[in-house]
Amino acid sequence: MKNYILLTPGPLTTSESVRKAMMLDWCTWDKDYNEGIVTPIRNELLAIAGLDPDLYTTVLLQGSGTYSVEATLGATVKETDKLLILANGAYGDRMGEIARYYKLDHIIVSLPETEPVTGQVATEALAAHPGVTHLAMVHCETTTGILNSIEEVSRVVKGTGITFMVDAMSSFGGIPIDVNGLGIDFLVSSANKCIQGVPGFGFIIARREKLLACKGVARSLSLDIYDQWDAMEKGNGKWRFTSPTHVIRAFYQALQELREEGGVEGRYKRYSRNQRILVEGMRSLGYTTLLPDEFQSPIITSFLYPSESFCFQELYEHLKQQQFVIYPGKISGADTFRIGNIGDVYPGDMEELIDAMPSCRHE
Ligand SMILES: *Cc1c(COP(=O)(O)O)cnc(C)c1O
Repeated sequence: MKNYILLTPGPLTTSESVRKAMMLDWCTWDKDYNEGIVTPIRNELLAIAGLDPDLYTTVLLQGSGTYSVEATLGATVKETDKLLILANGAYGDRMGEIARYYKLDHIIVSLPETEPVTGQVATEALAAHPGVTHLAMVHCETTTGILNSIEEVSRVVKGTGITFMVDAMSSFGGIPIDVNGLGIDFLVSSANKCIQGVPGFGFIIARREKLLACKGVARSLSLDIYDQWDAMEKGNGKWRFTSPTHVIRAFYQALQELREEGGVEGRYKRYSRNQRILVEGMRSLGYTTLLPDEFQSPIITSFLYPSESFCFQELYEHLKQQQFVIYPGKISGADTFRIGNIGDVYPGDMEELIDAMPSCRHE
């Protein structure tokens, strides 16, 4: 069976070398694994974010990305705290759902899915809801592909003492983020997005001082990021419970490949080129993007159904026969489908996709 080219929001197409890195078995309490693989991964995550290890640290956590988002909210927002979530899509809404499960004192400001989260949105929400101690938002809202302005929101949050949490699941590693400069306290991402690993764990980049304050706050043992961190620190990279060893070894390889590509900047350039080829090609075939270019991320793009009679499943099957897997839309206001351009995919793949794409012009 030939491998698909996954043009989805993750899991993504990975390189053969990343997949091959999973061919060996590892012992979770041996130092070859903990000191040789896990610790270098933790250090490299800080290095690619340009962070000082005295100020920031990392926690790796089993599960998909949502587990790490939930763990972060559940271990940071105390009973006496108040959480503000600025949402404009499914992943922002999911943080609201987590807050409900945990019965956190929270407010969710839900914008239409085509409107970006901006500094003004943050300013107005904070003015309307005094007493906020934590602010959470999504960087690239993968629901539509919209890029929210963490820079603008950061200017509003900075100096207020509010803990700033960013779901950068689908952007970290693919879009440069000045974590310390933006005053981000907790940044959450996962193995199988822009770092191009395989799925199985998430990670949290945390301001040390804020993570230390999480001791004893978590309501879940498995998702206690303080405890997980403490065990990793004391055990030189030892996980509390079974570690996804093969996934971790693949991630180690993926980080090396990120470095070889020129780091986050290099990857950002490739993703941007991929996305430009995609959008220019789709427009030349008569398709329209959901978002204006100014709000669009270089990660995933939503396209409107070209007509009433358009059948997504037909397009899906047609492209799948040529190895390309695209994704349905998931917004309420418009009929859309999505095409991602992250993962081990290159401008040439995007050109081939455009060649395989049927025109929707009525000639
Ligand atoms: C992928 C993604 C997640 C996590 O999704 P999982 O299915 O739990 O891995 C969270 N937020 C955003 C913005 C994402 O793109």
